[in-house]
Amino acid sequence: MILHDPALAMSFPDYGILIPVLDSRAASVLDSLASGSCAGRAAGRTRLVDGIRAAAPILGEAPASLAISRADLERVHNGTFVSRLYGEGSGDGRGLEVALLSAYELIDAEGRLNRYEPDGATKPLSALFSTILSQVAGTYTACRLALSGGDASGPGFCYFLGGGMHHARRDGGSGFCLVNDIMIASARLHSEGRVSLVWIIDVDAHKGDGTAEIALGLREAGSPLALTLSAHMASGWPLDAASLERARREGRGDKRAPLAASDVEIPVEAGQEAEYLPRLREGLAELASLSAGRKPDLAIVVDGADVYEGDGLPSSEGLALSLGACVERDEAILGFLDARGIPSAWLMAGGYGDRAWEPPAAFLNSIGVSRRA
Ligand SMILES: [Zn+2]
Repeated sequence: MILHDPALAMSFPDYGILIPVLDSRAASVLDSLASGSCAGRAAGRTRLVDGIRAAAPILGEAPASLAISRADLERVHNGTFVSRLYGEGSGDGRGLEVALLSAYELIDAEGRLNRYEPDGATKPLSALFSTILSQVAGTYTACRLALSGGDASGPGFCYFLGGGMHHARRDGGSGFCLVNDIMIASARLHSEGRVSLVWIIDVDAHKGDGTAEIALGLREAGSPLALTLSAHMASGWPLDAASLERARREGRGDKRAPLAASDVEIPVEAGQEAEYLPRLREGLAELASLSAGRKPDLAIVVDGADVYEGDGLPSSEGLALSLGACVERDEAILGFLDARGIPSAWLMAGGYGDRAWEPPAAFLNSIGVSRRA
């Protein structure tokens, strides 16, 4: 099952934001599926849910019940940070705008505009917040669809053409991620009694630092709801010394360093792409052994395409997998989860430039997910 919601387009140019994230990516994936051969190896996975509101009847709920509330954010984010997002706690009322400027890195260390032309904006920056919350609702809905979607052909599977804001930390956003949809969804599912253990399998090119930090914090607070795996570039943002030094100069040092470790860390050096798949398979086995016999109720896969050699973001060049290796990566994860009867919600996550749709499209085509319901 695929979850797609055209209403979730981020429309970054409307805000004067010039990062290379294309709203056309989801549509390109769907176009490919409509025209692809769809080998049909997963016959039960052929349904398209075109919007969060359309997903609600499948789940037997009113659409409004899938919305993300302030209480959902407060389960995983610091109260002061959440207050700022809702326009409280800063005298000038610019708390949300400042949080967005920081999360999208629109001001550099010298105070200059960075990939940001506010004079060309047609919408106020703060209007992005409601779209971001809707993206979080998409992630939560994908998890619900995965949890309810199993049948004789296998455990539930839902691929959300959005989400994956894995750099957002407890105290604030970074790396194009304002809030952490992965942990917000996990914690809400946990509070609703729908899950007790979630695996978070993050194969975006960048380390899932925010997710690791929040999952660890919740565990230390007595709620061991998530085990995390991150396979990522060994060097480069958010790990390299230059980035950390810059963060310290900006007064963000306490927040950014040290970076929390995922439960299973798979840092891959540039040029070591041949080791990627064997190490990922080893990491998945390690995740299973760390669970000590506790079968997770759900896996959330942060399926970043910025590991792809055709990706357009310079900072993800440290990993350059072929399209075939990207598909093999995803098939290995899905096969691992299916064999254990674990439902999975997949988030499209990172992917930049005009070829970023190719890895998710190739994967969905390979497992036979068609938009023809
Ligand atoms: Zn990334």
